[in-house]
Amino acid sequence: MLGGTFDPVHIGHLRSAVELCEALALDRVHLVVNRQPPHRATPGVSARDRLAMVAAGASDTPGLIVDDREIERDGPSYSLATLESLRAEYGEHARLVMAIGMDAFRHLAEWYRPEALFEQAHVVVIERPGSSFTPSAALTALIEPRRCDSIESLMVKPHGGFLHLPLPNPIKVSATELRERIDSGRSIRYLVPEAVERLIVQRGLYRHGGSAGR
Ligand code: ATP
Repeated sequence: MLGGTFDPVHIGHLRSAVELCEALALDRVHLVVNRQPPHRATPGVSARDRLAMVAAGASDTPGLIVDDREIERDGPSYSLATLESLRAEYGEHARLVMAIGMDAFRHLAEWYRPEALFEQAHVVVIERPGSSFTPSAALTALIEPRRCDSIESLMVKPHGGFLHLPLPNPIKVSATELRERIDSGRSIRYLVPEAVERLIVQRGLYRHGGSAGR
């Protein structure tokens, strides 16, 4: 699972999902769209529009699943509830992985019941250029006992491990940068799939004061 607000989805998310799928030999990666992220402001663009962008961006990419289960659920989008629901779907023996970028990982110890996440899935952290940091004591205590030093040692179990996984093509783009670009009329070409750019233009998303976001 790779969860996010996807506000909007971009090539950093999509390329990471494809590379995760390959590196860990996963059957599929669920792109789970948050309805109401617990740790940040509710996005200005509706969950339905963000889901539509993820669907347009992922399109028919092998292995990518556009997942609306958090949108269909009431209340804050706790990852624990999402993992429990994936676990119920795939069964107790399936190897489940929750992948997060380095920026989100920084705050993992502050998430809802962080230890319980490891009872459902492995946690794999992927690089984001410019997001290195010194982990807090709480984060260190959470991950160190669970750290694995290779993909093989992680994937022998169905859950419970932690792995720092450098991907071959880290991409610096962020949704914040894209929102700013669109709002000020600058180009987002090639930073999102063409179909996502088309949807943004058609629905007039992220434009407050700027001219057409192309
Ligand atoms: P924002 O700029 O609004 O914070 P974002 O670009 O970080 O958005 P999110 O939807 O918050 O996008 O990210 C979902 C998940 O994808 C998070 O775990 C995040 O760390 C990860 N992620 C986002 N962008 C990248 C990227 N360029 N490379 C790798 N991981 C990324």
